[in-house]
Amino acid sequence: MNAMIQEMFWSVQGEGPRCGRPQLFVRLHGCNLTCSYCDTPASLIPRAPQSFPWHGRTVPNPVPLEFLQTLVAPELPFVESVSITGGEPLCQGDFVAAFGRWLCQDMAMEVLLETNGTFPGWLKENTDSFSLVSADLKFPWAQQHRDTAGELLDFLQSRQQSCQDSCKIICDDAFLACASHWLDHMVERGARFPVVLQPLTAADGSCRGVEESMKLVRTYTERGLRIWLIPQMHHLLGVQ
Ligand code: SF4
Repeated sequence: MNAMIQEMFWSVQGEGPRCGRPQLFVRLHGCNLTCSYCDTPASLIPRAPQSFPWHGRTVPNPVPLEFLQTLVAPELPFVESVSITGGEPLCQGDFVAAFGRWLCQDMAMEVLLETNGTFPGWLKENTDSFSLVSADLKFPWAQQHRDTAGELLDFLQSRQQSCQDSCKIICDDAFLACASHWLDHMVERGARFPVVLQPLTAADGSCRGVEESMKLVRTYTERGLRIWLIPQMHHLLGVQ
Protein backbone atom coordinates (compact mmCIF):
# COMPACT_ATOMS: atom_id res chain seq x y z
CA MET A 1 0.00 0.00 0.00
CA ASN A 2 1.46 3.37 -1.06
CA ALA A 3 0.78 7.07 -0.42
CA MET A 4 1.59 10.27 -2.25
CA ILE A 5 3.18 12.45 0.43
CA GLN A 6 3.65 16.18 0.09
CA GLU A 7 6.03 16.70 2.99
CA MET A 8 6.92 15.49 6.45
CA PHE A 9 8.33 17.65 9.22
CA TRP A 10 8.65 18.20 12.96
CA SER A 11 7.03 21.35 14.37
CA VAL A 12 4.58 22.57 16.96
CA GLN A 13 0.86 22.48 16.26
CA GLY A 14 -0.25 25.88 15.03
CA GLU A 15 -4.03 25.55 14.99
CA GLY A 16 -6.84 24.74 17.36
CA PRO A 17 -6.93 23.56 20.97
CA ARG A 18 -3.59 21.72 20.74
CA CYS A 19 -1.59 24.80 19.72
CA GLY A 20 2.05 24.71 20.74
CA ARG A 21 2.42 20.96 21.19
CA PRO A 22 5.32 19.23 19.40
CA GLN A 23 4.09 17.04 16.61
CA LEU A 24 5.28 15.12 13.61
CA PHE A 25 3.33 16.30 10.59
CA VAL A 26 2.68 13.90 7.74
CA ARG A 27 1.10 15.92 4.95
CA LEU A 28 -0.54 13.85 2.24
CA HIS A 29 -0.88 15.19 -1.27
CA GLY A 30 -4.22 16.05 -2.90
CA CYS A 31 -7.54 17.52 -1.90
CA ASN A 32 -11.14 17.23 -3.09
CA LEU A 33 -11.76 20.97 -2.57
CA THR A 34 -10.20 24.21 -3.81
CA CYS A 35 -10.80 26.75 -1.03
CA SER A 36 -9.84 30.30 -1.99
CA TYR A 37 -7.91 30.76 1.29
CA CYS A 38 -5.96 27.49 1.12
CA ASP A 39 -2.55 27.81 2.77
CA THR A 40 -1.21 24.54 1.37
CA PRO A 41 -1.68 25.18 -2.37
CA ALA A 42 1.15 22.82 -3.29
CA SER A 43 -1.05 19.99 -2.00
CA LEU A 44 -3.71 20.83 -4.58
CA ILE A 45 -1.88 20.71 -7.87
CA PRO A 46 -2.74 17.52 -9.75
CA ARG A 47 0.76 16.11 -9.80
CA ALA A 48 2.32 15.13 -6.47
CA PRO A 49 5.99 15.93 -5.88
CA GLN A 50 8.32 13.25 -7.16
CA SER A 51 10.04 13.24 -3.79
CA PHE A 52 10.34 15.11 -0.50
CA PRO A 53 13.25 15.74 1.87
CA TRP A 54 13.52 13.94 5.18
CA HIS A 55 16.55 14.30 7.47
CA GLY A 56 18.99 14.95 4.65
CA ARG A 57 17.72 12.23 2.35
CA THR A 58 15.34 12.31 -0.59
CA VAL A 59 12.26 10.11 -0.26
CA PRO A 60 10.63 9.23 -3.61
CA ASN A 61 6.86 9.13 -4.10
CA PRO A 62 4.79 7.02 -3.86
CA VAL A 63 5.87 5.87 -0.40
CA PRO A 64 5.10 2.28 0.69
CA LEU A 65 3.48 2.02 4.13
CA GLU A 66 6.23 -0.20 5.52
CA PHE A 67 8.92 2.25 4.42
CA LEU A 68 7.06 5.21 5.90
CA GLN A 69 6.88 3.34 9.18
CA THR A 70 10.69 2.99 9.23
CA LEU A 71 11.03 6.76 8.70
CA VAL A 72 8.44 7.72 11.30
CA ALA A 73 9.27 5.33 14.16
CA PRO A 74 12.59 6.98 15.22
CA GLU A 75 10.85 10.38 15.38
CA LEU A 76 8.10 9.34 17.79
CA PRO A 77 10.07 9.92 21.05
CA PHE A 78 10.37 13.61 20.11
CA VAL A 79 6.67 14.39 19.65
CA GLU A 80 3.48 14.30 21.69
CA SER A 81 1.46 13.15 18.74
CA VAL A 82 1.39 12.67 15.00
CA SER A 83 -0.70 14.93 12.81
CA ILE A 84 -2.00 13.32 9.64
CA THR A 85 -2.89 16.28 7.48
CA GLY A 86 -3.09 17.55 3.92
CA GLY A 87 -4.42 18.69 1.52
CA GLU A 88 -7.19 16.32 2.48
CA PRO A 89 -5.63 13.15 3.87
CA LEU A 90 -8.83 11.15 3.45
CA CYS A 91 -8.50 11.38 -0.32
CA GLN A 92 -6.06 8.52 0.42
CA GLY A 93 -8.38 7.00 3.01
CA ASP A 94 -7.23 3.36 2.80
CA PHE A 95 -3.66 4.40 3.46
CA VAL A 96 -4.61 6.70 6.34
CA ALA A 97 -6.67 3.89 7.89
CA ALA A 98 -3.67 1.53 7.88
CA PHE A 99 -1.04 4.12 8.86
CA GLY A 100 -3.19 5.59 11.62
CA ARG A 101 -4.05 2.17 13.00
CA TRP A 102 -0.35 1.27 13.17
CA LEU A 103 0.42 4.51 15.04
CA CYS A 104 -2.49 4.18 17.47
CA GLN A 105 -2.48 0.44 18.11
CA ASP A 106 1.12 -0.72 17.60
CA MET A 107 3.05 2.42 18.57
CA ALA A 108 0.58 3.72 21.22
CA MET A 109 0.80 7.21 19.73
CA GLU A 110 -1.81 9.91 19.79
CA VAL A 111 -2.93 10.63 16.23
CA LEU A 112 -4.54 13.93 15.35
CA LEU A 113 -6.38 13.67 12.06
CA GLU A 114 -6.79 17.05 10.39
CA THR A 115 -9.52 16.80 7.80
CA ASN A 116 -11.75 19.14 5.83
CA GLY A 117 -14.70 17.20 7.23
CA THR A 118 -16.15 16.06 3.92
CA PHE A 119 -15.62 12.35 4.59
CA PRO A 120 -17.83 11.73 7.65
CA GLY A 121 -18.53 8.16 6.51
CA TRP A 122 -14.82 7.33 6.68
CA LEU A 123 -14.58 8.87 10.15
CA LYS A 124 -17.43 6.72 11.43
CA GLU A 125 -15.94 3.52 10.03
CA ASN A 126 -12.30 4.03 11.05
CA THR A 127 -12.30 5.26 14.64
CA ASP A 128 -9.43 2.91 15.50
CA SER A 129 -7.14 4.82 13.09
CA PHE A 130 -7.04 8.15 14.93
CA SER A 131 -7.23 9.46 18.49
CA LEU A 132 -8.90 12.77 17.85
CA VAL A 133 -10.05 14.73 14.89
CA SER A 134 -9.87 18.39 13.95
CA ALA A 135 -12.57 18.76 11.32
CA ASP A 136 -13.34 21.84 9.28
CA LEU A 137 -16.96 22.79 8.92
CA LYS A 138 -17.17 23.58 5.22
CA PHE A 139 -20.23 25.34 3.99
CA PRO A 140 -22.18 24.16 0.96
CA TRP A 141 -20.67 26.63 -1.48
CA ALA A 142 -17.19 25.42 -0.54
CA GLN A 143 -17.91 21.73 -0.67
CA GLN A 144 -18.45 21.54 -4.43
CA HIS A 145 -19.87 18.05 -4.16
CA ARG A 146 -22.46 17.69 -1.42
CA ASP A 147 -23.25 19.16 1.95
CA THR A 148 -21.73 16.86 4.56
CA ALA A 149 -21.86 19.32 7.47
CA GLY A 150 -24.88 17.71 9.18
CA GLU A 151 -23.36 14.24 9.01
CA LEU A 152 -20.05 15.59 10.35
CA LEU A 153 -21.72 17.26 13.33
CA ASP A 154 -23.60 14.04 14.12
CA PHE A 155 -20.27 12.21 14.20
CA LEU A 156 -18.60 14.79 16.48
CA GLN A 157 -21.58 14.77 18.80
CA SER A 158 -21.55 10.97 19.03
CA ARG A 159 -17.98 11.13 20.44
CA GLN A 160 -18.16 14.24 22.55
CA GLN A 161 -18.26 12.47 25.93
CA SER A 162 -15.00 10.63 25.40
CA CYS A 163 -12.90 12.58 22.89
CA GLN A 164 -11.24 15.92 22.47
CA ASP A 165 -12.32 16.40 18.87
CA SER A 166 -12.88 19.92 17.65
CA CYS A 167 -14.70 21.57 14.81
CA LYS A 168 -13.02 24.46 13.02
CA ILE A 169 -14.67 27.25 11.08
CA ILE A 170 -12.40 29.38 8.91
CA CYS A 171 -13.48 33.01 9.17
CA ASP A 172 -13.32 34.00 5.52
CA ASP A 173 -15.37 36.87 4.15
CA ALA A 174 -18.39 34.78 3.26
CA PHE A 175 -18.71 32.69 6.40
CA LEU A 176 -21.01 34.73 8.62
CA ALA A 177 -24.49 33.82 7.39
CA CYS A 178 -23.80 30.10 7.23
CA ALA A 179 -21.79 30.10 10.46
CA SER A 180 -24.80 31.38 12.39
CA HIS A 181 -27.01 28.75 10.77
CA TRP A 182 -24.76 25.90 11.89
CA LEU A 183 -23.99 27.42 15.30
CA ASP A 184 -27.75 27.66 15.93
CA HIS A 185 -28.01 24.02 14.90
CA MET A 186 -25.28 23.07 17.40
CA VAL A 187 -27.02 24.95 20.20
CA GLU A 188 -30.29 23.15 19.46
CA ARG A 189 -28.47 19.80 19.52
CA GLY A 190 -26.65 20.55 22.79
CA ALA A 191 -23.21 20.20 21.19
CA ARG A 192 -20.33 20.20 23.72
CA PHE A 193 -17.30 19.67 21.45
CA PRO A 194 -15.14 22.81 21.06
CA VAL A 195 -15.91 24.99 18.06
CA VAL A 196 -12.86 26.96 16.95
CA LEU A 197 -13.30 30.12 14.94
CA GLN A 198 -10.06 30.60 13.05
CA PRO A 199 -9.41 34.03 11.51
CA LEU A 200 -7.26 34.00 8.40
CA THR A 201 -3.88 34.98 9.80
CA ALA A 202 -1.15 36.69 7.76
CA ALA A 203 2.56 36.45 8.56
CA ASP A 204 2.57 40.09 9.75
CA GLY A 205 0.10 39.15 12.46
CA SER A 206 -2.96 40.71 10.87
CA CYS A 207 -6.13 38.66 11.11
CA ARG A 208 -9.32 38.95 9.08
CA GLY A 209 -12.76 38.46 10.56
CA VAL A 210 -11.83 39.07 14.21
CA GLU A 211 -14.54 41.61 15.00
CA GLU A 212 -17.31 39.43 13.60
CA SER A 213 -15.87 36.38 15.29
CA MET A 214 -15.75 38.10 18.68
CA LYS A 215 -19.46 38.81 18.40
CA LEU A 216 -20.12 35.17 17.60
CA VAL A 217 -18.00 33.99 20.54
CA ARG A 218 -19.95 36.24 22.92
CA THR A 219 -23.36 35.31 21.53
CA TYR A 220 -22.84 31.57 21.36
CA THR A 221 -20.99 31.27 24.67
CA GLU A 222 -24.09 32.78 26.25
CA ARG A 223 -26.13 30.16 24.42
CA GLY A 224 -24.05 27.30 25.83
CA LEU A 225 -21.50 26.44 23.12
CA ARG A 226 -17.81 25.93 23.80
CA ILE A 227 -16.73 28.39 21.12
CA TRP A 228 -13.15 29.68 20.98
CA LEU A 229 -11.25 32.17 18.82
CA ILE A 230 -7.76 30.95 17.88
CA PRO A 231 -5.62 32.41 15.06
CA GLN A 232 -3.17 30.42 12.96
CA MET A 233 -0.32 30.50 15.49
CA HIS A 234 2.29 29.00 13.15
CA HIS A 235 1.86 32.04 10.87
CA LEU A 236 2.39 34.37 13.81
CA LEU A 237 5.45 32.43 14.98
CA GLY A 238 6.84 32.18 11.46
CA VAL A 239 7.25 28.41 11.73
CA GLN A 240 6.18 25.64 9.42
S1 SF4 B 1 -9.88 21.71 2.24
FE1 SF4 B 1 -7.98 22.48 3.16
S2 SF4 B 1 -6.34 21.68 1.84
FE2 SF4 B 1 -8.27 21.49 0.70
S3 SF4 B 1 -8.40 23.35 -0.53
FE3 SF4 B 1 -9.54 23.73 1.37
S4 SF4 B 1 -8.05 24.67 2.76
FE4 SF4 B 1 -6.87 23.72 1.08
